Amino acid sequence: MGQTGLKVSRLCFGSLTLSPLQANLGVKEGAGLIAGAMERGINFLDTAELYDNYGYIKEAMKGRPRSSLIIATKTYAYSRKMARESLEKALKEMGLDYIDIFMLHEQESALTLKGHREAMEYFLKAKDKGYIRAFGVSTHHVECVRAATEMEEIQVIHPLVNIRGLGIADGSVEDMLTAIGKAHYRGKGIYAMKPLGGGNLIENPKECFDFVLGIPHISSVAVGIQSVEELETDIAIFENRPVDPGTESALSARRRRLLIEPWCEGCGSCVSVCSQGALYLKDGKACVRQELCILCGYCAVRCKNFFIKVV
Ligand code: SF4
Ligand code: SF4
Repeated sequence: MGQTGLKVSRLCFGSLTLSPLQANLGVKEGAGLIAGAMERGINFLDTAELYDNYGYIKEAMKGRPRSSLIIATKTYAYSRKMARESLEKALKEMGLDYIDIFMLHEQESALTLKGHREAMEYFLKAKDKGYIRAFGVSTHHVECVRAATEMEEIQVIHPLVNIRGLGIADGSVEDMLTAIGKAHYRGKGIYAMKPLGGGNLIENPKECFDFVLGIPHISSVAVGIQSVEELETDIAIFENRPVDPGTESALSARRRRLLIEPWCEGCGSCVSVCSQGALYLKDGKACVRQELCILCGYCAVRCKNFFIKVV
């Protein structure tokens, strides 16, 4: 992956989907799914402090060599103190002595990166001490990919890209591909997110995966997985093997959507965190424009009453 020295599988296990924010699998079940993926040759997993699933990863790693899984996580920390707490939490809750890739979560531009400078400097020192192997950013913004390309401190970029550009906050899919290409030629390690647009493009997974796998600058693609059937289908498509048509159509039919419970109190906290503009208030309740929602689940965390779910 770029100049990181990390050798990752093409399929990266996206763990948001199994976490409390989405499928809310039990720890044993979620850990079993991760372990099953590792046994099928997947050595790369994407998580985040927000996903609240470090316990699943710790369970999946029990009895396995540390080197068997490359783990990428992310944080919203912007100060030194917050960065230290995030790193300590990740190490402790996953039972690890280092994290392979630590990223700033949901960065937007040179300006937001500047605002996170203190946290960045903490992580770079932690990297020097061996607690982190590579430092990076995750983003839905073309502008951030461009800014990160110019920063030597950043080794890994985790951008949103899919065949329709669904969820790219500030440009077209062509803009994102151009930015990714430039980042690659500057030595950045790149792994993509949301190849299925958060599940909105699930009707034709093969076409979507073929598109991202055809981008020559991307080392790996994070795909949200929450069942053995999804895992097997994704592996088959990534290995260019035929997929059982029954399984594929069953998965395609299982389209996820955001559910806002009718008892919403209309406080608006969730609306302000949605970078896709998918949420709005109407008649004192939060409402979702499903066609804009990429099922990131970030709004669900904001609702203290747990009125938002991905179902
Ligand atoms: S509505 Fe919620 S899940 Fe959908 S894109 Fe916005 S923050 Fe993400
Ligand atoms: S945060 Fe919860 S209560 Fe507040 S508007 Fe959103 S769904 Fe409703």
